[in-house]
Amino acid sequence: MVKLAEWRGKEIFRRYRIPIPTGRVIRSLDDADAAVRSGALSLPLVVKAQVLAGGRGKGGAVKFASTPEELRTVVAGMLGMEFKGEVVKELLLEPKVSVGRELYLSIALDRSARVPVLIASGQGGVEIESLADDQLLRIPIHPFAGLAAYEKRRVGQSFGLAPPASKELGGLLDSLWQAFQREDAELVEINPLAVVEGHLVALDAKVIIEDDAGFRHPEYADIRDDRTPLEEIAREKEIAFVQLDGDIGVIANGAGLTMATLDVLGQFGGKPGVFLDLGGTDDAGKVTEAFLLMAKAHPSVVFLNIFGGVTRCDTVARGLVAAMTQVPEAERFPLVARIRGNNEDAGRDILRSAGVTALSDLKASAQAVVAAEKSRQAGRTAS
Ligand code: ADP
Ligand code: MG
Repeated sequence: MVKLAEWRGKEIFRRYRIPIPTGRVIRSLDDADAAVRSGALSLPLVVKAQVLAGGRGKGGAVKFASTPEELRTVVAGMLGMEFKGEVVKELLLEPKVSVGRELYLSIALDRSARVPVLIASGQGGVEIESLADDQLLRIPIHPFAGLAAYEKRRVGQSFGLAPPASKELGGLLDSLWQAFQREDAELVEINPLAVVEGHLVALDAKVIIEDDAGFRHPEYADIRDDRTPLEEIAREKEIAFVQLDGDIGVIANGAGLTMATLDVLGQFGGKPGVFLDLGGTDDAGKVTEAFLLMAKAHPSVVFLNIFGGVTRCDTVARGLVAAMTQVPEAERFPLVARIRGNNEDAGRDILRSAGVTALSDLKASAQAVVAAEKSRQAGRTAS
């Protein structure tokens, strides 16, 4: 998932002729001064923090400035501030327009309907989640034909616009659809789409590009996304690794078994903190590498759940034992293994002789994991 900052989203809008205020991205106080002095921008301006989180308006990350002094104060206050865990490094300066109505428009991939869906609301400017179902118009889009004229008219009727905005809407909807398709987006959202002196203007832009289309978009290669530093390392090593909130580490093979393992732990009151999916590998070195990555996340206990097929149980066991010796003494954690399938007896023997609790029953092993976690937590609070 590549989430684009507002200014990048607006750059896409501009290319598809969706009207936006002409703004400028700045990274320092000097940039801001220069933008105004050169006449590129004129006051009053809106100053918008370029962070990926939403709700900036309410949270003080969108502010107005009508004099050069005010602009300096607002810019100085916003650059470097933290907003929902993100440090603000870029600001978008834009002419302050006089906003009439605020509408909502988006196209997103609806995975259950298996088509893109257009969502429109006459009540824009607030978060979409806060709107009731009957305030939203949803129109599934035919992936080849795009939006039909009557569908566009339905959106127009639900908005109840007067000309010229009503006349502009059809073209804007086509542009949004083209942007969604041609830019490989999984979401394009305009919230708010404002009526400014009778005309439609996109005041905000949220665009998310499909990860799988990343290779077609070298222009986004340098954009950070929501991966943690460990997840980033894992990605480079092609290890499927995800960090969650809990304390228990989970190593399994195959997406299905991995998900099922998280569920079983949940059923017994365990909270997974990080999981990795070994997939089908018969390379002990890769198992070692994956395990060492998991150790860096400092789990309180690790649950290994393997179904041996392509991945032989003894290979995993050997890789794991090799990895454990490389984890510094102070950072070691108890390990519970549940292994079934190809060479399971050999795998269990290798693990047991290394001091690992190795079982074959899923429930019993999940309970052992949760018990181990509880006793470690008790130990921690006691000491
Ligand atoms: P967020 O969705 O993160 O809160 P928005 O870009 O939607 O940020 O901005 C919040 C509000 O600020 C908008 O709903 C709009 O009312 C106002 N706003 C944004 N840009 C402008 C602008 N160029 N001129 C006037 N008002 C603006
Ligand atoms: Mg918005």
